[in-house]
Amino acid sequence: MPDELKKQVDDLLMNTYGRSPVTFVRGQGCTLFDDQGKSYLDFLAGIAVVNLGHAHPGVSQAVCNQALKLTHVSNLFYTEPQARVARLLVENSFAQRVFFCNSGAEANEGALKLTRLWGKKKLGGAYGVITMEMSFHGRTMKTLTATGQKKIKEGYDPLVPGFKHVPFGDLAALEAAWDDNTCAVMVEPVQGEGGVNVPPEGYLSGLRELCDQRGALLIFDEIQTGLGRTGKLFAYEHFGAEPHIMTLAKGLANGLPAGAVLAAGEAAELFTPGAHATTFGAGPVIMEACRVVLETLTSPGFLDQAAKTGEYLRARLQDLAAKHPDKIKQVRGLGLMLGLELAGSGAAVVRDMLARGFVLNCTQDKVLRFLPPLIVNPGEIDAMGQALDQVLAAWSPAA
Ligand SMILES: *Cc1c(COP(=O)(O)O)cnc(C)c1O
Repeated sequence: MPDELKKQVDDLLMNTYGRSPVTFVRGQGCTLFDDQGKSYLDFLAGIAVVNLGHAHPGVSQAVCNQALKLTHVSNLFYTEPQARVARLLVENSFAQRVFFCNSGAEANEGALKLTRLWGKKKLGGAYGVITMEMSFHGRTMKTLTATGQKKIKEGYDPLVPGFKHVPFGDLAALEAAWDDNTCAVMVEPVQGEGGVNVPPEGYLSGLRELCDQRGALLIFDEIQTGLGRTGKLFAYEHFGAEPHIMTLAKGLANGLPAGAVLAAGEAAELFTPGAHATTFGAGPVIMEACRVVLETLTSPGFLDQAAKTGEYLRARLQDLAAKHPDKIKQVRGLGLMLGLELAGSGAAVVRDMLARGFVLNCTQDKVLRFLPPLIVNPGEIDAMGQALDQVLAAWSPAA
């Protein structure tokens, strides 16, 4: 990459990211191209965002058409695209109403604001929310407080009052942490940034039961797990447990900024005019992208195929685990949200894979995270698997 660009970005943007030294200029399906013309297979999809693949013709066309017609009028007026997307979400989920916003953190803020209204209305002013250790819910003050990871909060105290964290998957710990102030539980059905952690059998339905018994709200943060990532439209469908509130973002507009808070029953009726708002939310251009995403994900056979491809990728990763037992501790996940836990730091593996033309991510230092576009095919998976086999052969957990 040209040194000039690197210098400009490093000097001019606030220093929040450690970037890999690659400049991407174009994408197509699961392939990315850099400024040198080198191609890469993308097993990250912009962190579970570009679920339909790069430069999806349907999404891009819909966005261009809408951008030439009407881009923004605010929510003080009616527009058609938001009605279509709300209908698609409601018809395909547990929910009855939707609030659209612009990011995952903003969706979680909205959900957490609903818990405050709920506590006042139903639980004598209770405002406590229990979330999980190793969770990730965003970077605003309230969502970083909700996040069960120390490093995300460092330097930002005083935090928002009312949050407690308990170990993910442990119902007894949750019951023990419950107190008179508890009004909601928030959880990722499968933890993403926390290392691709799948909950034990019965956990999510146990949470729902507990919340119902005590009149509290259950929030599923499906910002990463939602929209086909786990092989079903929403991860909760795997577990036979519905939330009262669900948040979406990442894959919702295939790369454009979009978030949503979905709710059922009384939780869906808590906001009243003026109680919550966002200027850009549900703008027609973004909504047209969301419409194509949802129509594609719900088209016959699409998610079945993604689920099958997830099984294929998992099997290839398990082959690698069998071949490198001293280097790979575990393969886990659901659908095309898979983690491979290494016996040491994965930074060098990610770097060497990038040099070979494969975009991967590592979370929690040791967990290689696979979040390819849902249209990834077995040939692309095989190519990645072969490269990873070679990289692992040369890698040492101690290095
Ligand atoms: C990415 C993510 C968020 C935050 O989304 P932003 O759009 O970055 O604000 C929240 N929760 C989960 C589970 C996520 O994966």
